[in-house]
Amino acid sequence: MNPIGRWLMGGIGVLLLAGTGNAFQFRTPVKVDSSEKIAVGGATLQVDFAEGPLDLGREAVLERVRNAAQAVTIYYGQFPVKTARILILPVRDRHGVFRGTTWGEMGGFPGFTRISVGEKTTQQELNEDWMMTHELTHLAFPDLPDDEHWMEEGLATYVEPVARVQAGQLAAKKIWQDMIEGMPKGEPEAGDQGLDRTHTWGRTYWGGALFCLAADVEIRRETKNRKGLQDALRAIVAAGGTIDHHWPIERALGIGDSATGTHVLAEMYAKWKDAPVEVDLPALWKQLGIRQVADGVELDPKAPLSPVREAITAQWK
Ligand SMILES: [Zn+2]
Repeated sequence: MNPIGRWLMGGIGVLLLAGTGNAFQFRTPVKVDSSEKIAVGGATLQVDFAEGPLDLGREAVLERVRNAAQAVTIYYGQFPVKTARILILPVRDRHGVFRGTTWGEMGGFPGFTRISVGEKTTQQELNEDWMMTHELTHLAFPDLPDDEHWMEEGLATYVEPVARVQAGQLAAKKIWQDMIEGMPKGEPEAGDQGLDRTHTWGRTYWGGALFCLAADVEIRRETKNRKGLQDALRAIVAAGGTIDHHWPIERALGIGDSATGTHVLAEMYAKWKDAPVEVDLPALWKQLGIRQVADGVELDPKAPLSPVREAITAQWK
């Protein structure tokens, strides 16, 4: 088990949380006030609510967990693990969903997510939440050595919005706009030594997401848009590559490549792991047919890689 789990905000967040007794809080038993079970994607999720007030009530939060689990199920074709526990910690006077962490193999569950929900959270904030989906996405990839933490976070960062679009919970335009804004944060800065050796917040979350986007586009380019990263990721889960298993990254990428009949993941990893690889993002957006306009983005159906862009967010057939 990774002792710090997958801290969502990384960087400073890790230090603050780990340094202010969060780890201690985890060892202290949290009193569970109510417990619900939801069935989704062939799995049973146990959703535990710790004591504490929630203006919206627990049913609304439960519904958010259900939506997140459905998006993950749609992307992977099944919920990645058979059982998981989700512990909701209500936080007084706060808004929104925050401080999510997911572990493998904890307390008899293959997956365990602990996440905070503010007492004052509104329905709109729940509708706009992405963190619950991000956390549950972590269940669908094996636990990797610390140096490859970027792969776990990058994958969750990339798959979460795509899964929500496929599930009809988000508009495709919105995620491409977010990617145009977010992906530059994943580019290497001066002194970068590659993803396995540069553990900054930007390279871990957005650098990993950039790797996933570039891999998705390349797999689709090489297979004439018949296969994508989603095929690779589904195959990894089908081979037992979930968060409760510790794998070397090469094993996961090899299974992924076999599923697409390419060597994209292994070859990209060999280049990106110990050297700074830049992606020409403006050129990529142009090829994908994504154009920034005053109030968001415009999607051009005639761009050369427009079918690739559409296939990424289309529901699996
Ligand atoms: Zn994460």
